[in-house]
Amino acid sequence: MIKTRAAISPTGYPHIGTIYQALFDYAFAKRHKGKFIVRIEDTDQARLVKDAEKKVFSALDWFRLEEDESPRKGGPNGPYRQSERLDIYKKYAQELVEKGNAYYCFCSKERLDEVRKKLQAEGKIPMYDKHCRNSKDQKLKIKTGEPYVVRLKVPENKKIVVKDEIRGEIEFNSSEVDDQILLKSDGFPTYFLAVVVDDHLMEVTHMVRGEEWLPSSPKIALLYDFFGWEKPYFIHTPIIRNPDKSKFSKRQGHTNVSWYQEQGYLPEAILNYLALMGWSHPEGKEIFSREEFIRLFDFKDIHAVGPIFDLTKLEWMNGEYIRKAKISNLKFLIFNFYNKKYSEELIGKTVPLIQERIKKLSDYLPLCEFFFQKPEKYEVDISEKKVMLQKVAETISALADWKADVIGEKMQESAKNLGIKNSEFFMTLRVAITGKKISPPLNESMEILGKKECLKRIKNIM
Ligand code: GLU
Ligand code: ZN
Repeated sequence: MIKTRAAISPTGYPHIGTIYQALFDYAFAKRHKGKFIVRIEDTDQARLVKDAEKKVFSALDWFRLEEDESPRKGGPNGPYRQSERLDIYKKYAQELVEKGNAYYCFCSKERLDEVRKKLQAEGKIPMYDKHCRNSKDQKLKIKTGEPYVVRLKVPENKKIVVKDEIRGEIEFNSSEVDDQILLKSDGFPTYFLAVVVDDHLMEVTHMVRGEEWLPSSPKIALLYDFFGWEKPYFIHTPIIRNPDKSKFSKRQGHTNVSWYQEQGYLPEAILNYLALMGWSHPEGKEIFSREEFIRLFDFKDIHAVGPIFDLTKLEWMNGEYIRKAKISNLKFLIFNFYNKKYSEELIGKTVPLIQERIKKLSDYLPLCEFFFQKPEKYEVDISEKKVMLQKVAETISALADWKADVIGEKMQESAKNLGIKNSEFFMTLRVAITGKKISPPLNESMEILGKKECLKRIKNIM
């Protein structure tokens, strides 16, 4: 049984990078009829953000990345929140100490700071100096209640080979690997211990993480070997980048899922776009459904090069999804996007006029607000056009058949009779009706607004 997991730290708002990771986990698990787990990694208590977990789940729900096991769903290998698993980590840390693969460290913060400063001054990578590695009185110190951490005992002079499914074998030298803290003095595990214990106990078969975690993989591999557990496949996905190739950040882009919701991006379009970050469709297709992606996706086809997040392209893609949407569906999306403030029925009538024109749901109102309220200001001064508007009002009043094509015909006729150029005539009329120089097709808009309302708006200027 294939099992993947999204290991999410609830330390902030739901990040688009988290969704990107989760998408791959989800698609791979679904493709193989496996399970997708969401685990909450809340062991760094100082960085916890209230409500972050709730927001992560509502973001996953918005994208319909439905998990099989999680804190809210339960599952056979819970709990799925790391803060509820402390005794499990403690037990395994103990086991490593007993086997001689980990040791207690009693060094004070001051001592560690000194060691770090000294190494930095010598231009070396700051690492723990293994001071407590061979101390004899460990048991005694613990008895007397001295605070301690548990550290990984990294073997000396050893080649550690890690196999990544995208990058192949990567060799590390153990001298570059720190005697990492596994269990902190407050009884919380660090990421390294927790991730190995949990992935093992939760029967994760594919450990999919962002490539920024790659440097931790020798420690992860050592832990699996020390425990005598079979390793999952290691897969490090390329991280999304800003246009300047730096890691995708809020300073250069929009990383918060809620921004995309506020802008009226469609979750399916975002997922389609994210799928293309690092993966390409075998037929070179750019637009494909979630089902198609699930059917085709394999980690083998991921490129290791960092994909660049291109908002313009996403916007284009979103527009494609809007164009493809059923009118009834788009009506519903727009209605909800504006918190049900505008008549759903009226939105429905306007959708065919603007479906080709909008790229995001938030483009709707600037284009269509005039359907819901009369113009408050006019983009062009048409106060000098009273004679023309008077004639138009008369023509309209006499019109029995209020249909876009009839309106169009009659208006053309009026323009001719008045000896006004079409472009000028319709610009004036458009501004009178909508307040704007650019609007959805005018005749159709007038039909929707109704004869009475159109007359009212024209008279408003006179
Ligand atoms: N908890 C880590 C994070 O939030 C995930 C790393 C992993 O997937 O193992 O980034
Ligand atoms: Zn120490």
